[in-house]
Amino acid sequence: MKLPILLAIQPNETIFSFLVRWNKYLGFSTESYLFKNVFDKNRVRIHPYLPTQLSNLAEALEVEKNSLLIDHTLYSLFAFFNPSIREKLMKKMLVSQHTVTNITGIPSAKLSLTFGHKWCPVCVAESIKQFGFPILKIEHQIPGVIACSAHQVLLKQIICGDNGIDRKLILALSNSQSQKANQLAIQFSQFALEVLIISRASEITDLRKIYREQLSKKGYITKHGYIRISMLEDKFSSILEEHLNVTDHHVLSALRKKSFLGPLLREKTSFPAHPLKHLLFSFWLFDGNADLFIPSIPKKIEISPSKLEKPRNFDDEIICMLREGKSMNLIEAQTGKSRCAIRRIAELNGLKHATNEMHYSNAIKRAVQRKALMGIHRNKIAQELSVGIGYVEQVICNTPNLSEWRKQLRHQAKVSNAEKTIQMLVTNNPSLTRTQLRALAEAEYALLYLHDKERLFSLLPKPLKPTPPNCKK
Ligand SMILES: [Zn+2]
Repeated sequence: MKLPILLAIQPNETIFSFLVRWNKYLGFSTESYLFKNVFDKNRVRIHPYLPTQLSNLAEALEVEKNSLLIDHTLYSLFAFFNPSIREKLMKKMLVSQHTVTNITGIPSAKLSLTFGHKWCPVCVAESIKQFGFPILKIEHQIPGVIACSAHQVLLKQIICGDNGIDRKLILALSNSQSQKANQLAIQFSQFALEVLIISRASEITDLRKIYREQLSKKGYITKHGYIRISMLEDKFSSILEEHLNVTDHHVLSALRKKSFLGPLLREKTSFPAHPLKHLLFSFWLFDGNADLFIPSIPKKIEISPSKLEKPRNFDDEIICMLREGKSMNLIEAQTGKSRCAIRRIAELNGLKHATNEMHYSNAIKRAVQRKALMGIHRNKIAQELSVGIGYVEQVICNTPNLSEWRKQLRHQAKVSNAEKTIQMLVTNNPSLTRTQLRALAEAEYALLYLHDKERLFSLLPKPLKPTPPNCKK
């Protein structure tokens, strides 16, 4: 079924959020009609971030199933930290009728994570203003994330579970005020978002090797190559102790009870570990720099281990150095930030930089192309993939037919927008004539007249019969 463009699933929207809108659009009082038609079942639970039966949904929507899996769930993040379950998880999320939490081997309950749909009140208000409906974002569903990094406020949560809403397609979003989040929670949520983006674009990486390299820089590897595990556990538990606000208090106290670092670091004791454990550990180990998960970008200097305690504002430092005309090499050496990151900051701030070298992998390039194909705005692609806007533009220009395709999408969106506006005007003003309606929305009227006259006339009230001149009062 093809939905109007404005009702189509939005970039990074959760599957649940989308289904709620779709159900509302269909206008049925229960969700069983939609469930029956899409999933061939009357009752379905939609998991906030690991939903299943995506093949059915993709088929119903006539979209690519992998794009639902990658862009609208946390599949990539779970697979990234546990490559051994990658294939099985993908298969189950596409076709299984059952929950997949058992194959991830990592039930949330052990971490005291509240199970539900999280949402940012500012993001939701913006989406209502822009599209007329609330949109829940997949990055906010990352376990342990409690803040929206874009708006720096605390996320709110709708509880799921048997007494919650997970068999219902309703969104009861409270109207309460947004609450400012603390700096550490914001940094952690930004870090988690960046890791999610990297996980979508990267092949399997050797996580233990990456961890070992950073541990070595921090002095946690002996000269014979062993990890100083008890020293590390002491340090990390004191970090968890001090930084209470990075995530939920219950989660932190659950994590403090038992050390979890061994399985993350040693091959022999390895079993699937919850992504939140990886995220918290790497946030500290990498000093908040998610780029370290991309092993192809060499890091030249060791970053001070105290960064987590006193966060450095790298963006300002880099902008300052770029303005002073310092070279990429020097900035890279002085900040420890990758060239990608420096280029991004330079391009986001309209500053010139000295290199045009492409450091992005083919996987990143393909991700840009895929998002561009979906008609996502250049700025948003750049932001989501942590690349420069210039790079996105270059990829779009250099991919045959992509610019033309995007033009066509924009045009379709415009026509559909015009249709929506006229329809709204007619519904809200049933007594107005065609001429009066045209005066209220001239541009939309003209656009629709030009491109879909039949549709325009089907929306408008019947034309008035012409009055003979001698009957005029
Ligand atoms: Zn937000």
